Amino acid sequence: MGKGWAIALHGGAGDIPINLPQNKKEPRESALLHCLQLGISALKNGRSPLDVVELVVMELENHPLFNAGRGSVLTTEGTVEMDASIMDGKTKKCGAVSGVKTVKNAVSLARLVMEKTPHVYLGFEGAEAFAREQVVETANQSYFITPANVERLQQAKEANRVQLDYTRPIAKEVKVETHIANGDSQIGTVGCVAVDADGNLAAATSTGGVVNKRIGRIGDSPIIGSGTYANTYCAVSCTGVGEDIIRGTIARDVAALMEYKGLSLKEATSYVIKNGAPEGTFGLVAVSATGEIAMPFNTTGMFRACASQDGYSEVAIH
Ligand code: ASP
Repeated sequence: MGKGWAIALHGGAGDIPINLPQNKKEPRESALLHCLQLGISALKNGRSPLDVVELVVMELENHPLFNAGRGSVLTTEGTVEMDASIMDGKTKKCGAVSGVKTVKNAVSLARLVMEKTPHVYLGFEGAEAFAREQVVETANQSYFITPANVERLQQAKEANRVQLDYTRPIAKEVKVETHIANGDSQIGTVGCVAVDADGNLAAATSTGGVVNKRIGRIGDSPIIGSGTYANTYCAVSCTGVGEDIIRGTIARDVAALMEYKGLSLKEATSYVIKNGAPEGTFGLVAVSATGEIAMPFNTTGMFRACASQDGYSEVAIH
């Protein structure tokens, strides 16, 4: 079945300036490398892929440079509303949360939804109440809100746009802007996929969403089949314009092409990157049951990293 473990993770796709300054690039690359190493040692220690993707995504959520957990981008009211999901390939068990405001690690709350409730998806007050019940670690909004994100919201409001980094607007009235004036990028939704040597697969994704989003807006990240999916063929985590990823049911389409059409992971992901949603809108990381890795994107870049048991390893942006 399996041909060795493999892991891939992302820290967001978008219109990342090709000349991203070293002081923006370096801390993100080293965070990706750190998270990759964390995942590799967990896999080597025999932790399940489900544990591994949760662990890696938690670490990325705790890092203020990524748009998930601490460092989440802000809603139009200057608040944080976080979304996350997790899925186990073998059992197809999955869990998701939306609109959480106080939970430090939304991905772990998603896992608790999967393991401790008969449901798949809890949102807003219900998700918060469940978090209290499960006594997960919480913090007030000031923990999540970073000065950089306060500034990004300000810039977005001044320009009347919902987000700063994608080449297409997500609503008609929204102005198209492809670059951020200071060369920074707020993208940084995070995700991880992993497979062990027996071919067990898992995927997880976590995000603060998009800058200046409406209160209550839900993107693709917590939606099983759109932002996250895993079965016995592959595990997929997406990033990009949530509305386009939802319309394209991107993560499930990769799995469906493998399952119903017999495509390899590389073939399925290439097909979906070209045909699943418009150019310039998304990227994904994926692994197959046999340890193949794919990390395609149709944006200018995607913060990403991967490694496999055969010794291959990569950290890249463009
Ligand atoms: N997909 C995320 C969302 O739309 C954003 C991102 O990946 O940067 O909420």
